[in-house]
Amino acid sequence: MRYAAAGVFLLAGCMLTWTAGAAQAQEARAVFGLKSGGVPIVERPAPGDVRLAYPQAGEWLDAYEETGMTFLEYVSSDPLRPSPERRTIYLVCLEGFEDFQTAREVRRFLAAFFSLPVRLVTGPRPPAAAYDPERRRYDGDEILFALNRHMPDDALLCAALTDKDMFSGRLSAVFGLAYRDLRACVVSTARAWGDPSQARSDDERLRLDKLVAHEVCHVFGLAHSAGYRCLMNGTMSLSDVDRAPVYLCGPARRQLQYSIGFDPGLRDRRIVQALRTLDHAPEARVFATRRVRADRVAARPTRADDLLAARRSPRW
Ligand SMILES: [Zn+2]
Repeated sequence: MRYAAAGVFLLAGCMLTWTAGAAQAQEARAVFGLKSGGVPIVERPAPGDVRLAYPQAGEWLDAYEETGMTFLEYVSSDPLRPSPERRTIYLVCLEGFEDFQTAREVRRFLAAFFSLPVRLVTGPRPPAAAYDPERRRYDGDEILFALNRHMPDDALLCAALTDKDMFSGRLSAVFGLAYRDLRACVVSTARAWGDPSQARSDDERLRLDKLVAHEVCHVFGLAHSAGYRCLMNGTMSLSDVDRAPVYLCGPARRQLQYSIGFDPGLRDRRIVQALRTLDHAPEARVFATRRVRADRVAARPTRADDLLAARRSPRW
């Protein structure tokens, strides 16, 4: 049986006119200093990004033909963006999910990862209509529709935690599910965690952080990364989830930055702090190393910088 950490998001429901897409692309060029019509520099990897190897049998990219999304494709898709009135991520513990200590840790990680306020709340049971007695699982899509119906006014999006096993459409079992247009995602611990009566291991806690952050990124309109190792790589199994890094590759991070507008250096420092506090020291070191490399690259003058400096220098 194939299990998939599926992030399904509706592209068909968000078709834009070319005019709207072009206007947003123009805005992005202005924000990031891209030349009109030029190849976006943001497609370049961040320092330390690792190219994905050719997919092997059984890996996500072997099963699904995904190519990722360019920056301008992302901008033209009119992604979800916070506003002053609507900028809170609601982390909802659906009835049955009772590990509130771990939920608080997820809240802390999400707040750093997305540089947005995250509010932890308890929610109702997954709707009874979502339960399929034949499959003996819950329809994740129905849970997302219910989340959307009860979305608080100031909610940018809702991310739910459930202990119920889920399916979605033809996927017989999913770890998580996200619908961009519903501004909602849900992650199940039914298959991501072991014995519920035992204390959670560090691996299980980190796994939940990664699964929720992955699905929230889908709500922000990010597709699976197909070029570099990334939190947004599609995953087929728990071992895939555990192997995936906790960071976003350069192109994916720039897309999220466009949506949220965070300061990359400040965000990295907050994530390092959160990971240290949550006892994920190796992952904190990875983030810190990537930050050092990024700072080194930023400090290294390019040929264009040299030319600009020469033009500014007084001539005698
Ligand atoms: Zn996904």
